[in-house]
Amino acid sequence: MINLILFGPPGSGKGTQAAKLLKKYKLIHISTGDLFRFNLKNNTPLGLEAKKYIDKGELVPDAVTINMLTEKVNEHPDAKGFIFDGFPRNVHQSEALDALLKSKGSAVSALISLDVDDEELVKRLLERGKTSGRKDDSDESIIRNRLKVYYNETTPVFDYYEKTGKSVKVNGVGTLLAVFRRLCKLMNKL
Ligand code: ADP
Repeated sequence: MINLILFGPPGSGKGTQAAKLLKKYKLIHISTGDLFRFNLKNNTPLGLEAKKYIDKGELVPDAVTINMLTEKVNEHPDAKGFIFDGFPRNVHQSEALDALLKSKGSAVSALISLDVDDEELVKRLLERGKTSGRKDDSDESIIRNRLKVYYNETTPVFDYYEKTGKSVKVNGVGTLLAVFRRLCKLMNKL
């Protein structure tokens, strides 16, 4: 199995690149953000719970997120592999993911982090907010809070996988295609 963690701050292009990668490598894309938004739209109990956190730019509690992720992985017993997008977002989630994959005789293959500077991120997110209808994209203070959460809680995930030599950074600035080519070069080595 190829299990890729597509990593990087909000607005770094994970979702866009994941969509291109899953086609090329025939992997299952799991975006915890998309799953939460789907639940929000459908007013499910999970969506209502998650909304309290998402609207403030905070992380949804681990128990909720890990259960949702586990269920989604278990829906695809025959997958060639997964692209995890937006997960893990803290070290506790990383440990849960490792345990889940281990129970399937597998492991994380690599973590690829899209490197984009803060000012470019804020610009991209505000631009996305104009059309996405995402409340967390239309307010600069919520965006800044998401970046703060990313640096405090999520970047340790990079260090966690770096210990086993699995973490790698890629320049996330450039055209969609230029970034995609950089990612493919790394994917082809897995
Ligand atoms: P971003 O563009 O900020 O990376 P996502 O679509 O991945 O956005 O996630 C949107 C929101 O959903 C996050 O700000 C957070 O509140 C919640 N969320 C997504 N993934 C997780 C996770 N793994 N753990 C906790 N909360 C999450």
